[in-house]
This record gives sequence, C-alpha cells and structure tokens, in this order.
Amino acid sequence: MHLIITEKNIAAERIARILADKAYVETRKDGGVNTYTFGDTTVVGLRGHVVEIDFEPGYTNWRSEQHRPRSLIDARTIKTPTDKKIVNLIQKLTKRADRVTIATDFDTEGELIGKETYDLVRAVRPSMPIARARFSAITPQEIRTAFGEPAELDFALAAAGEARQVIDLIWGASLTRFISLAARRGGKNILSVGRVQSPTLAMIVDREREIEAFVPEPYWVLSVDSTRDGVGFSARHTTSRFTEREAAVAARDRTSAPLIVTDSREGQKIDRAPTPFDTTGFIVAAGRIGFSAANAMRIAEDLYMHGFISYPRTDNTIYPPSLDLDGILKTLEKTEFRDDVGWVRANRRASPTRGKKSSTDHPPIHPAGMATRAELGEERWRLYELVVRRFLGTLSPDARWTTRKVLFDAGGEPYTTTGSTLAEAGWRTVYPYSDAAEHELPPFAVGERLPVDDVRLEEKETQPPPRYTQSRLIQVMEELGLGTKSTRHEVIGKLVGRKYVEGNPLRPTLVGRAVIESLEVHADLITKPDMTTAIDAHMQEIKERQRSRDEVVDESRAMLHRAFDELESHGDEIGRDIMGRTVEEMLLGPCPVCGSDLRLHHIRSSQFIGCVDYPECRFNIGLPVTTWGFAVRTDDVCPEHHLAHVRLIAKGARPWEIGCPLCHHINSNRETMGLMPSMTPELLDRLNARHVYAVNEVAAADPSVLAETAGVDAATAERLKVEAEEVLGLLRRRSELRKFVRAHVPPRRGRSHAKIMKALYARGVDTIEHLAEATPEAVQATGIGEKEAAALLDAARGLCNDRRLRAMGVSPISLKKYYAAGFSRPEDFIRHPAPYLTLKTGISPDTVHRHVELICEALGRPAPKRTTRVQLERGRAELLSIPGVGESTIEKLYSGGVFDARSLAQADPHSVAENSGLPVRKIQDFQARVAAPREATG
Ligand SMILES: [Zn+2]
Ligand SMILES: [Zn+2]
Repeated sequence: MHLIITEKNIAAERIARILADKAYVETRKDGGVNTYTFGDTTVVGLRGHVVEIDFEPGYTNWRSEQHRPRSLIDARTIKTPTDKKIVNLIQKLTKRADRVTIATDFDTEGELIGKETYDLVRAVRPSMPIARARFSAITPQEIRTAFGEPAELDFALAAAGEARQVIDLIWGASLTRFISLAARRGGKNILSVGRVQSPTLAMIVDREREIEAFVPEPYWVLSVDSTRDGVGFSARHTTSRFTEREAAVAARDRTSAPLIVTDSREGQKIDRAPTPFDTTGFIVAAGRIGFSAANAMRIAEDLYMHGFISYPRTDNTIYPPSLDLDGILKTLEKTEFRDDVGWVRANRRASPTRGKKSSTDHPPIHPAGMATRAELGEERWRLYELVVRRFLGTLSPDARWTTRKVLFDAGGEPYTTTGSTLAEAGWRTVYPYSDAAEHELPPFAVGERLPVDDVRLEEKETQPPPRYTQSRLIQVMEELGLGTKSTRHEVIGKLVGRKYVEGNPLRPTLVGRAVIESLEVHADLITKPDMTTAIDAHMQEIKERQRSRDEVVDESRAMLHRAFDELESHGDEIGRDIMGRTVEEMLLGPCPVCGSDLRLHHIRSSQFIGCVDYPECRFNIGLPVTTWGFAVRTDDVCPEHHLAHVRLIAKGARPWEIGCPLCHHINSNRETMGLMPSMTPELLDRLNARHVYAVNEVAAADPSVLAETAGVDAATAERLKVEAEEVLGLLRRRSELRKFVRAHVPPRRGRSHAKIMKALYARGVDTIEHLAEATPEAVQATGIGEKEAAALLDAARGLCNDRRLRAMGVSPISLKKYYAAGFSRPEDFIRHPAPYLTLKTGISPDTVHRHVELICEALGRPAPKRTTRVQLERGRAELLSIPGVGESTIEKLYSGGVFDARSLAQADPHSVAENSGLPVRKIQDFQARVAAPREATG
C-alpha cells in the first residue's frame, strides 16, 4: 500500500481526488480520523503538528526552589504526541504500507511537520521508503507533477524549524516564568514574554512614547481662490508652510489682484503596475479593504486548501519561469473576470512586473483555480477577487498620468497649483483598489489675468506619527526581520489576546507598557529586534547546512543566560516596578464616601469595585461575574464623579460598556429603590447625595443614622427599613422567578428575557407561586408562544406543588414514587383513598397514612381512618373471593374507597361508581354476593 500523509484533512481529500483521477475514492473513518482510499493508495491528513515539544518532566512547578526559571534554559526537551488518535492511526497504517509519501505544506513549518511524521513512521518501520512531494498549489497539474517527481525530505530545513521551536520554547517559558513570579502574577494574569512578541510589543510602546512626547508646532498655509470661465479653483503660496505668523500675514497683505499666470507646464508621470503578492503585500492590501491580518490569512489558507489560490505563505515577489501564466489566464477566462482577462490579453506588458524578493520555495500568491461568487460566499470571494485582480495587474501595462503645474503672481507673491489626469489607465483598469483621484485643470495661458476672489490664511499644527495599524506593523516586522511570514500575524493576535495592546491602530495597555519599560531597563536584549534578527540569520545558516541545530540552540542559550545574569540581580526591583505600574490600571478614581481610591478587584470569577481603605471604608459596587466579561478600566472619565469608565471584555463578544461605575450603580438601583412605597424622588436624591444608593444599604443601616442621613423622623426611618427588607425579599423571589423562566423558555432571536420579565412584573407576577396561579392567556401575553406558555405553567405548578408537599413533610424519596404514579398535588392525596395510593406507588400503608395525615393537617381537613397492612391483605383476599373480581377490579374498587368486604357492604354504590368507573349495577351485584354469605353465617 502507498500511504500519503498531508498536513490537513481537507488537503488529504483534495489530493486523493486529484490523484484518483476518475477512480472511486472511498472515505472511511478510522478512530475518528478520515482516510481516503483509491486503488492501492490511502491518503490521510494530519492536524498540523501532532507532536509538540515540552520540557522533560519535573519542571511544571513554577515555584520550585530546585528548578528556578533560569533552569529552563538548559532543561532537556522532549516530544509528546498532542493528537494521539492521528499518531496511532499513522502508525497503524504504516504497518500495512510498503512506501510512504509526505505531502505537507512546502515551507519550514511544513518540512518540520514532515520530519515529525517521518520519525513517527520510522519508529514503527525503520527501513520504510519515505518520499516527499512538494507543491505550491493544490491543483491537478501541480499535484500530479509533485507526485510524479517525488523528492527527499529536507532535513536541514526541518532542523531550522526545530531549532526555532526549541529556542522559542526556552525563551518564552523561562522569561515568562521569571517576570510573572517577580510581579506576583499567576493563573490567567501571567505576564508573557516571548522572543518575537516582546520586541514587537516594544515597537508599539516606542511609538506611543513618541506620540506622547510629540509637541505640535503651529504653521500657516496661505492660498488664493479664483475663477476662470465661471469655474472656481484655488492656488497655494509656493511657501507651502509658513512657520512664522508674521511672515504669513505679510505675504497675505501683499497679495493683490490680478492673479497673473506666469508659467504653465505639462508633464508625464508613469504609474507602475503593482508587483506580485508576497504574504506581507497581500496582508497590507487585504487590510485596505477591511480584513484584519489574522482573518485575511485564515481565509487565504482556506482558499489554498480548496485549490483556488496558491500557497499564501511566501516571501517571493518574482514569478518563477516555470509558472504557467497563460494557463492561469486560461483558467480565469471561465470566471466572471472573462472581460478583464480579455483586456489583459490585448494589452499585456512584455514581461510581468517583479518585486525585490525572490525565494526558491513558493511562487508569489496567485490564482490557482476558478471560482464563482456563489460558491465562495462574500468574504472569501473578496479575497479571491483581490488575488485574481492583483495577478491581472502584474501582467498589465503601467498607467500614465498627464500632470500640469501652473505658477501665478499676485502682487509679487508667487502661487502655484497642480493637476493631473489619467492619460492611460493601464493596470488600473483591472486593479481598482488603490485610489488616485484625478484633478483636472483648465488650459491656462501665460500672461492671463484672473480675479482674486479670496485670500485665505489657515493656522494648522504638525501631527504626531500615527499609531501602527496591524498591516503596517507586519510590514515593519518584516523590515526588521521579526518573525516569519507564517508567524507575524499570530504574534500580533497574541499581543491582543494577552491584553498588552488594544484597538486598531494598536495602542499598548498599561500592563504592556509596564512589562516593556521594566525589561528595557534591566534586559533590553529581550526587547530589541537585534537578538531575534541574529537568530533568524542562524536559521538561514542551518538551512544552508553551514551550522548545526545544536550549535545554534546552544548559542541562543548562552545569550539567554547573559540576560538572566542581569534579570536575577534585579528581580525584586523589576517585580516592584511592574506591580507599582500595573496597580494603576485597576484604580478608577475617588471613592464617593471617603475620597481615597476605588479599585477594581478580580477574585476568581467574581469581580467588584471596592475602596482601597477597606475595612475603614466599606463602600463597594458589585459587577457581573467574569463570564459576562473581564472588567477593565478605560480612558473615559465621568465628569460628575471623576471615575474612570469600566468595560467588560469577553472573548469573541462585543465589549459591554458599563460606563461610570457610580452612575451605573445609581441607575441600576433607582428602579429597585422606587419599589419602596415611601420612597420619593427627593428622598432618593438626598440618600444618593449621602452615598446610600441601594436597597440593601437602607436595610442594613442603623435607624438613627438613616433618619439623620435621609432627613426624616425616627418612625419614617423604621418604616423605610421595613420596606427595604420587603423589597429585598421581593427581589430575591423575582430573581428566582427570572432564573426559572430563563431555564424553561429558551432564548431566541428577537425575544428578550428582560422584556418577558417586565411584562410579568407588570401583571403582578413576581414569584414562581404567582406564575403557577396565572392563566395561560396571561403568560402568552408576555410574548411567549402557546406551547411554551403551557409548558412553563406546568413546570411552575409542578415546582410549587413539590415545594408544598415537601413543606408538609413528605420525603423526597416518597415524592418521587408518588410523582411516577401521577400524584403530584396535595389535593390528590385527599381525593384518592389511601389503599389506592399504596397500590399505585408500592409505598407501605403506614407511610402512606402518615403522609395523608400530614397533608390533611396542613390543609385543615380531618384525616381519614387508618388502614393497616394486615387489614389490607385480609380485605384483598375477601374481595378476590367474590366471583368476577380480579386484579383490575380491585384497583377500581380501591379508587372508589372499597378495600374489604365490610367497606364494600357499607358503600354507597353510586359514589363508588362515580370514583371507580365501575357500573352501579356491578357494584350492587358484588354487594349482594358479600352480603349473602354474611347473612347466612350471621
Ligand atoms: Zn472609601
Ligand atoms: Zn458618574
């Protein structure tokens, strides 16, 4: 068997279908993993890396005295499977195979994954022939060529990847541990440090400091407005920026009509066609049409896997001679770009444009297969179209602009204006993404005299450098050699995920800044790109077989040891520094009660705002639990309370803006305070002004203090407290009702539980007991559907009855049996005779009697007479001895209150018939039969 192993499942499926040609491909699931078989070949996909490197056992305890963070630098690393299912399957299939082809992606990462696979295969069959297929697009032609001419695994390339993996692990783990321990951070709050991540963060911090240090300088711009043939235009003074106001004012005052044309010159400008896409170029272009770097790469990878575009991780901007450009045009002819392809064919430039970077692994990103808008969907289509249009652009002629520059004189002051028009659209015909506006000027003649309609002097300011956008940052990272085409967008994603940066353009958070600034002081090696650039150069040397993996890793270890020499001698200082700066991110502003600071607290999943002077000052504001989002401070400040705003951020959800926490606190308590009958708006304002905001605070207050605070007499204060207690009780019951409704009425689009609850409260339904007594119509009126309303009512009634029965003293175990037999309401125990309850539930007669007694007592009813087990058994025998009485009749008689000969004889046949469903005549017949022998013996 020929076993082919690809990097992902989707690639396995596509490659199988291409290689099978017209043969049937059988899809099987083996241990939860798909395999694709045709003829003698089986194709299986990995899930990227299926093994990972980690430290050998013994290094998991962060606080170990023996294995301090520094010891991780020299710790041995091991490989452990991360996806056991796939590893097992690969090894199982290997046993049946006689040759293996590795068809992972064609780059360093792919080669490393290939090497991992190679090791898995060789571990089972040491002499297995293993080939490597390399391709840049999953298209029939590329795949057939790659498998037709298989090569060997490139062990040097894989070793470079491995070295990077080990170095990243050692740097990341030892430094993250060291810094986190120093700053006393653990769990979700650890401070991560990384080889590429930290220098990248340092660049963002640097830019922020530049912006802060920037002092804007004023300058003045002078221009005149004029008209020619009824069309207005303006011209700027040839001194484009006056730095002195006096000079600008003097020039303005000298400016006078007429505006005389002194020169008019026409020129040509060549606007070069774009160069082929490498990863960075693609991310930048995708960023301009609204895609984040990570999203653009995710979609591009998907397009690659499906054979629509070539491999999107590439540093190459020059089409290799082997790339079949005509073939690609031919493919695109079948798409909606047919007219564009026709235009390119008719106007094609002599040779395609080329960028500055050529590498041998992958060609630049280009279209590989045809697609339709419908099959791709909006997002994928937009990026596919971008790649197609870029490709067409690189084959198109340059665009040409006609430019015009006109000079004027107005009272001795020189003015100028420029215009440009597109003479030949060239590549812009097929690549409409970059905007270049045309600005047409009339054909001015030298010596022409025009009016001066207005002279304008505007004051402006120089601007600070802009913050980095994600795509700009990726460009700069590439220039500095930080990260690789495959990792740059992931590094930025991590910085955002770890709350080191936020927004786009990117801005550092307080923590991000604290970590970088502290590292800069004590170990700037970690924040400078130099070290990481050096390591990348070493990778290249490994690839070219000039150095070994171990040599490079060892050198990196030595570098890290030097950094630790510095770090360890300043550990306490670094910790204090970071802690001091980061506590600030938790402070919100003045406590309304005592004036010291309010601070955000996070304790596991709960979070709240408290006063730093606790326990002297007990002021606090509760916040929703962290499942609703982690509370952070924002830059906005409440003008009334001078408190920083608070925002809850949760992964994958829109942030929840709490705003000023005190305003939020007051507003969210206003309604509940209003539930107290004696509360007036004036009283509420008085209480708020004295920092009493919530009902529980009123309830807990000392009556005399409350009287003073609220400005009321003692009796009113007492009444307020009682009312507050009542409101708290109501809130508890409402909260219970809310949870109950939430559990029974599933959330649905366009139906908010808040709305339902409001409607219920408005109808006086505040508790589950109220709900149980409500009519189905009333429940439906809150916006709940008929079926759901019925189910909700059923559940409410069930719960209420359960509570009543439990409160009366019926044990939960017995209740379970009663419910199973259909007795769920207290009334059922009065309506049905005890023997019937016993028969249907299997509960002993004594116990049933005790329950019935308890229930009767609670309902104020007389308890029925007790029937013992012996009486029941004897009675049963008596009844069964009557001809025509069997088990089913006994059950009916029980339900009619008849359980022995005596009760049968004394019963009123009509009432027994009504309760049992037996015909009156039949009962009378039974009575006659028991009566007869009695009379005989008596
Ligand atoms: Zn306080
Ligand atoms: Zn406020």
